[in-house]
Amino acid sequence: MPGIEDLYREIILDHYRTPRNRGELAPPAVSAEGNNPLCGDDIRVYLDVVDGVVHDVKFSGQGCSISQSSTSMMTVAVKGKTIEEVRAFVRRFKHMMTLTEGDDEVDQSINLGDIEALQGVVKFPVRIKCATLGWNTLLEGLNEATK
Ligand code: ZN
Repeated sequence: MPGIEDLYREIILDHYRTPRNRGELAPPAVSAEGNNPLCGDDIRVYLDVVDGVVHDVKFSGQGCSISQSSTSMMTVAVKGKTIEEVRAFVRRFKHMMTLTEGDDEVDQSINLGDIEALQGVVKFPVRIKCATLGWNTLLEGLNEATK
């Protein structure tokens, strides 16, 4: 049996207690909303993309500690990256969490850093959607920003 400590690693609790980049961005920043009805997680991601770079990113909403901390870590990771870098980073993360992305498309050399702490969530399948919610919402925001 996986232990509960695998789910609530210190770095995850830290981002839950002290979320980074929490708030909203005014237009022309775009936003996207994601929901996870199974858990009641509700997240909106705001993106300010300038010249193909994620210049600023913020998130609002509510939900469980996994959804909130994963989204907080995501915002720290993608800020300042180009859209292509962000998409590759999301593929790498989703591959770690779900193993559903094609191996060929995943750049295993990308270092996820602190975000690897979320790998423990994989042992709790019902929580994987909590961990990936903010990231899928980010992808929707990127689509909106690059329309
Ligand atoms: Zn959740």
